Amino acid sequence: MNVNQSAPPVPPFGQPQPVYLGHHQSSYGGQPGSTTAPTSYGAYNGPVPGYQQPPPPGVSRAPPSSGAPPVSTAQGPCGQTAYGQFGQGDVQNGPSSTVQMQRLPGYQPFGSGILAPVVSQPAVLQPYGPPPTSAQSFGGPPVSQPNHVPSPAPQALPPGTQMTGPPGPPLPPMHSSQQPGYQLQQNGSFGPTRGPQSNYGSPYPGAAAFGSQPGPPQPLPPKRLDPDAIPSPQLNELPPQQKTRHRIDPDAIPSPIQVIEDDRNNRGSEPFVTGVRGQVPPLVTTNFLVKDQGNASPRYIRCTSYNIPCTSDMAKQAQVPLAAVIKPLARLPPEEASPYVVDHGESGPLRCNRCKAYMCPFMQFVEGGRRFQCCFCSCINDVPPQYFQHLDHTGKRVDAYDRPELSLGSYEFLATVDYCKNNKFPSPPAFIFMIDVSYNAIRSGLVRLLCEELKSLLDFLPREGGAEESAIRVGFVTYNKVLHFYNVKSSLAQPQMMVVSDVGDMFVPLLDGFLVNVNESQAVITSLLDQIPEMFADTRETETVFAPVIQAGMEALKAAECAGKLFLFHTSLPIAEAPGKLKNRDDRKLINTDKEKTLFQPQTGAYQTLAKECVAQGCCVDLFLFPNQYVDVATLSVVPQLTGGSVYKYACFQVENDQERFLSDLRRDVQKVVGFDAVMRVRTSTGIRAVDFFGAFYMNNTTDVELAGLDGDKTVTVEFKHDDRLNEENGALLQCALLYTSCAGQRRLRIHNLALNCCTQLADLYRNCETDTLINYMAKFAYRGVLNSPVKTVRDTLITQCAQILACYRKNCASPSSAGQLILPECMKLLPVYLNCVLKSDVLQPGAEVTTDDRAYVRQLVTSMDVAETNVFFYPRLLPLTKSPIENTTEPPAVRASEERLSNRDIYLLENGLNLFLWVGASVQQGVVQSLFGVSSFSQITSGLSVLPVLDNLLSKKVQGLIDSLRAQRSRYMKLIVVKQEDKLETLFKHFLVEDKSLSGGASYVDFLCHMHKEIRQLLS
Ligand SMILES: [Zn+2]
Repeated sequence: MNVNQSAPPVPPFGQPQPVYLGHHQSSYGGQPGSTTAPTSYGAYNGPVPGYQQPPPPGVSRAPPSSGAPPVSTAQGPCGQTAYGQFGQGDVQNGPSSTVQMQRLPGYQPFGSGILAPVVSQPAVLQPYGPPPTSAQSFGGPPVSQPNHVPSPAPQALPPGTQMTGPPGPPLPPMHSSQQPGYQLQQNGSFGPTRGPQSNYGSPYPGAAAFGSQPGPPQPLPPKRLDPDAIPSPQLNELPPQQKTRHRIDPDAIPSPIQVIEDDRNNRGSEPFVTGVRGQVPPLVTTNFLVKDQGNASPRYIRCTSYNIPCTSDMAKQAQVPLAAVIKPLARLPPEEASPYVVDHGESGPLRCNRCKAYMCPFMQFVEGGRRFQCCFCSCINDVPPQYFQHLDHTGKRVDAYDRPELSLGSYEFLATVDYCKNNKFPSPPAFIFMIDVSYNAIRSGLVRLLCEELKSLLDFLPREGGAEESAIRVGFVTYNKVLHFYNVKSSLAQPQMMVVSDVGDMFVPLLDGFLVNVNESQAVITSLLDQIPEMFADTRETETVFAPVIQAGMEALKAAECAGKLFLFHTSLPIAEAPGKLKNRDDRKLINTDKEKTLFQPQTGAYQTLAKECVAQGCCVDLFLFPNQYVDVATLSVVPQLTGGSVYKYACFQVENDQERFLSDLRRDVQKVVGFDAVMRVRTSTGIRAVDFFGAFYMNNTTDVELAGLDGDKTVTVEFKHDDRLNEENGALLQCALLYTSCAGQRRLRIHNLALNCCTQLADLYRNCETDTLINYMAKFAYRGVLNSPVKTVRDTLITQCAQILACYRKNCASPSSAGQLILPECMKLLPVYLNCVLKSDVLQPGAEVTTDDRAYVRQLVTSMDVAETNVFFYPRLLPLTKSPIENTTEPPAVRASEERLSNRDIYLLENGLNLFLWVGASVQQGVVQSLFGVSSFSQITSGLSVLPVLDNLLSKKVQGLIDSLRAQRSRYMKLIVVKQEDKLETLFKHFLVEDKSLSGGASYVDFLCHMHKEIRQLLS
């Protein structure tokens, strides 16, 4: 059976599209949210102007008798760590995603000729070929390229790839091929033949010459790289001046900027049509449209490789992880349609009797259409009479293009009652807002800000279809050492409070009137939100509980028999006497010891138990943290993590500095479309199976991923292993089925299908890999590893695996060449630079200023990031602002994340999805300073500034526009920090220049590449 899909015309489904009315941020009070929200999600039809109007004045009321005033333990002052003041508080290494780049000179050999050039082998088939045209690339069946075939892909020659003359390494003979300057080796590799740059004279780290000043050009020894002489990049004992030991030209090693730019140029103009099995999609940094013609869009599923080895032996040899990063509810750009909803009535979706796979385009109809053979398990099933249809002369059902489930990669089924908990259709979900009203929360202005915001935000809860109003009900709890529940029933004139002080045995004191419809109870809710800040204005209570708060929210949902989400706003380590009470166990001395892993583990098992109960109830927990000091994020984030929730952290929160960021995140989070009470199963065709899962979810068995909630930002990464032999003809199939309850309370199944190729030649595997996805998987694997293993072990494992992957390529796929040459597969030429960014990230190699909470926070964030997010997080995007003409409004081409790319006459923006810096060179023209900052000289610019003045000139508008656009591309608001060259804040900024050696001892890109080369040579020898 061949599962290739021919490319049919887009089927004219007559059914209405499901429309998520939800996340249209741009219509919401001018928040800097995503402007990419699909229009098909519709606006929050709510009256936008009304949203911005001041809320009606609240009704004041006498403060209730809440907790007792005496101060318990005073909290320490804020700002104990250098990062604390930077809000997101969480400075990490991060990579850049959508980067544009200038062409760099091609792969010149690095350096002195002692170090061999990096050779990257161009992919024979994909990604860097000419821009695909739909006719060329998408029409026909996939072509399995045999190994050792010269690349047929004409490739634009990067400038500077000409060989330069100097005494070079022994050059492989140049092919007098049709492609000038692109010397094909046997299997299409290029580059190694180029000589070193003439301006790098002295030998690279020959032991003797190590660290010496570059000498005049010397004749090259025959062996060009002596890896044994290269120090481990983990070491940082070298004095700074020895940086100069690198005779490697940074322009000669693979550049992320170049790769991203090439992919944009080659693949950004044509839609990616999913009709052909095993196609590698464009990079996540390329803007492209997707046409679903039988396989799920890469926005839903990305794989580490689109051509997987037929046997487990081959897979073991290559060591390339076989994994899929799945984002089942991904939001789509406005131009792309949301999945169609298929309603099969009472009979429900058609499935294979044996393996329970859902009907999909790969199922094969036989016996004139009376039966179908399952593409996953080969079982022959009867076609129910109501589903019968005749086949055409090719064996295809004549109605194939009228049915989404027979022609598309992604679609939804309406679920029947059999798919519902207790065989009962679900009630609409509920949101419960649970607000810490202890001393710190009141003093920082958080409670007042939050209550004010909620008054209007509640009009924008997610809704579906053409619904007039959201079906979601809301409830409110405030707490410190005790909990206060509020009755906000519409018939009441004033809200009523009920205090529960027995936090050891949590119960919900009221059922009727706790969860209400926002519109019906608007007056009472507004009154409550007006009163809360007043009620607790004079509180002296500093202690808080935490687990009982979640318990209470979960019990409330249970009592209301619905799923839902808790929004917790919490400030401190919960030290009050209660279940889940925590102690301060932060200990930086554990770093680099075998006990370091305990810093990432929860300090009590109570939260796992609680999370399990939450999952059973479909109770998802989103946690907003406002810590002034250590709060044990590792423990507090357990429940959000296991329930598919999100964690946000605002260190040393102050309204004036942080409100924009907090409110943006809050608005986006509350308005997100969420699937509740979800279960995800990934089925595979015979030969492989899903064996491991990464993300924010809970698993009670080895196959079902349980998600109390799942939003459009969260991904689940799935690893596959062989359990049998695959074959090239059939390929391999994945089917991800997500059963969930929609925001309106409808039970649905979302199905994503993807067909991959299988190969018997390793070269085919290496030609169809996607490094960005590989890095996403490897980072998640490593970040989970630190829970159980010393961090050094985790780092070493990553390095070894990377070396094995590259050594296997070298041994089996690359043409014979000098051992001194580092040869990288074209699709993986960025693997070393990106992997190095992961290795020196704050989780795996923290600097002195990174807190334990920062590390735990980042660790859990990365766990559910998609590929675009990990890409920019680990390799930040660095954009020069003043290099291109000021009239040019397009995003400027990015430059590599290295200090040597910064000019002191320019201004740069750097972003990694969490942080945003504006770096100002010391010699920037006075006019530019005036235009952007409204001051007359560099020295008058305030360092650490987080808001640029709005000035009426082109440059100012352009930069503001660019900042808005960057923020709109990210799922979390990035607070701006202005950094002046040579200022003390610059250290913080330099942390993100990930190609350079880091202060925490992380290797520079060049060092790491040398180290990797050494590892590979050891494996090969
Ligand atoms: Zn089956």
